[in-house]
Amino acid sequence: MSENNPFEIAQRQLDECARILNLDDSIRDILRVPMREIHVSIPVRMDNGNFRVFKGFRVQYNNARGPMKGGIRFHPDETIDTVKALAAWMTWKTSIVDVPLGGGKGGVICNPKEMSDGELERLSRAYIQSISEVVGPEKDVPAPDVYTTPQIMAWMMDEFSKIYQKNQFGLITGKPLELGGSAGRGDATARGGCYTIREAANYLGIDLKGATVAIQGFGNAGHFAASLVSSLFGCKVVAVSDSKGGIMDENGLAVEAVIKHKVKTGSVVGFPNSKPISNIELLELDVDLLIPSALENVITSDNASNIKAKIICELANGPTTPEADEILYNNGIHVIPDFLANAGGVTVSYFEMVQNFYMYYWEEALVHERLDKKMTSAYHATLHASNKYNVNMRKAAYVVAVERVVKAMQLRGRI
Ligand code: NAD
Repeated sequence: MSENNPFEIAQRQLDECARILNLDDSIRDILRVPMREIHVSIPVRMDNGNFRVFKGFRVQYNNARGPMKGGIRFHPDETIDTVKALAAWMTWKTSIVDVPLGGGKGGVICNPKEMSDGELERLSRAYIQSISEVVGPEKDVPAPDVYTTPQIMAWMMDEFSKIYQKNQFGLITGKPLELGGSAGRGDATARGGCYTIREAANYLGIDLKGATVAIQGFGNAGHFAASLVSSLFGCKVVAVSDSKGGIMDENGLAVEAVIKHKVKTGSVVGFPNSKPISNIELLELDVDLLIPSALENVITSDNASNIKAKIICELANGPTTPEADEILYNNGIHVIPDFLANAGGVTVSYFEMVQNFYMYYWEEALVHERLDKKMTSAYHATLHASNKYNVNMRKAAYVVAVERVVKAMQLRGRI
């Protein structure tokens, strides 16, 4: 058993939940594996005239509570185990925020940074064609994830609409606003995380005004988190990082200026008057709030005991290994676990589906209000289970989410 295989981690987390809930072994065994795992070979004509065959996946983990939902990653290091783990986490994520959806995930092994727009468009269309029989607004609804964009969602929606010969806006979420996207989707993941941070701080008696924050990763999730913790709560963001390295200023970074610097130079590194800091050092800073917003497995048994933050809000998927989780819990660190903390994205994706079905679109303020309600109630359901079972917040979130999925399976007569 490796500490870092994401699917093994997802299974171990589920096993632990089954133990706490005293779940029947046969029910646990059903939940340990995806309902369906699709592998496709996708031939794409490249700009040089030759065909190249890409490998793609769609994993449909569980649809007891509704159509499966989960993003598509385009990444050179994509693996089926990562996609399976993410599909499992999507199942628990849609359940913890109590939206009527199941869990799925997709991926294609490719490097979009080395492909032309034309190649990327042909790959996107060919991928959705290859899985068109098994996805759709009532079956399985994809979305953007690592290295996939609203433009890619638009191409996929268009291709699917051609196959079915009618507009199919509800096929996919994260679309451009002009094509059935939802207001408030851009910062939804970070904003949802901020609502859970607010609730956690209230519970722990931490004043967020002036609270210090370190954020690893400065992409979609990380840069919006930096901006929102400053603007919503008056927190002091003292360190941020990206794949090229990190920067620090004990007096607080000017977040909007850092965002502009990153847009201009491609990295946060070299921001004027900041001190350089490594990604490893950033995690161990003496701050009130740590927000991992980049990669999996960055908090492990090697560094967990050095972490000093009071709250960790996991916007990234899978940043903490189970070994590290135990250490953090024993050290009294309040972890808002990934599939709760970053559920804002899928919640607003669900709102996007609802608006597509209605063909009537909401103001951004209404999206924020409804997102707040969902995230706040998911946080408190988790906190309640954490206190009831005397377990950490991740195990508690599993308990709440898995119980709901099991209930749906029972009511449907599947178990
Ligand atoms: P992104 O590609 O926009 O940003 C990723 C960031 O991480 C970039 O700033 C990149 O430079 C940085 N990074 C990459 N390698 C790094 C390294 N070795 N050390 C430090 N930083 C590194 O991706 P994103 O959409 O912001 O997603 C980040 C995480 O949040 C992922 O785990 C993703 O699954 C999760 N997440 C995102 C959303 C969303 O709506 N964007 C929703 C749920 C979960």
